[in-house]
Amino acid sequence: MTPLTHEDTEKDSVNLAEGEILDVRNLRISFGAMEVVQGVSLRLQRGQTLALVGESGSGKSVTALSLLRLLPQGASVDPGSSIVVSGQPVLSLTPRQLRQLRGGSVGMIFQEPMTSLNPLHTIEKQIGETLQLHRGVSGRALREQVLALLEEVGIDNAARRMGAFPHELSGGQRQRVMIAMALANDPALLIADEPTTALDVTVASQILELLKRLQRKRHMAILLITHNLGIVRRYAHQIAVMQTGRIVEQGTCTEIFTSPRHCCTRMLLDAER
Ligand code: ADP
Ligand code: MG
Repeated sequence: MTPLTHEDTEKDSVNLAEGEILDVRNLRISFGAMEVVQGVSLRLQRGQTLALVGESGSGKSVTALSLLRLLPQGASVDPGSSIVVSGQPVLSLTPRQLRQLRGGSVGMIFQEPMTSLNPLHTIEKQIGETLQLHRGVSGRALREQVLALLEEVGIDNAARRMGAFPHELSGGQRQRVMIAMALANDPALLIADEPTTALDVTVASQILELLKRLQRKRHMAILLITHNLGIVRRYAHQIAVMQTGRIVEQGTCTEIFTSPRHCCTRMLLDAER
């Protein structure tokens, strides 16, 4: 008999519909008496991009952080909320299961990579540590895998860049490095919170193109969070529009751009013109 591998046990715990990676229902999050997420429901499948779009302060980041239970102190999630990521009921996981989820099937990238990268460590060391920690890679294989990841995210001259420190890279290159680190865990879901907001327009579209390419290659699901409805046009399959803690409109990319129904959606569209 073949012994059960780690992958087998993981597969057994998945009870979502085929390919479904994220299922959020009636999510409510408060800071004290202020409810900042008010009954949000979202679903996402592998190979698909869902854009969560809304003006600043509408609750996008708080929603994203709750998916991995990374909410700041003072936030509380209503017990009637349900979050299932990769078959795991996030709100009832033990600390150990939560660590596995964070280090395994979900990757996360943010607006400003400089704050997430260690300024004192080279790129090779930072990506290497992630690979070592979560995948147990070491020695020569480690260097090869770091290099392969850097090449995959389009860092040119990757072999030479491996020894660079974060401040020696441009904003776009740093975001590529963050994406490489997120890919080190081979995630089924990538959560990208304003990944291009700190970048100029040309670099921003290069990063979005990269995400699209990686999604096709790795069949990942992407939750793309942005205040900028215009930039998701070429990248999202589905769009959910958020306003003051609620999803006010949701539809396919074509529906949202050709016949927006909610005034908030129209306002976001007008802001692009
Ligand atoms: P978005 O990402 O859409 O710009 P956020 O999710 O960051 O918005 O914030 C949603 C709401 O939650 C805002 O009203 C914000 O002020 C509030 N909020 C976020 N973080 C905290 C915190 N640590 N303490 C208190 N309120 C917070
Ligand atoms: Mg935000």
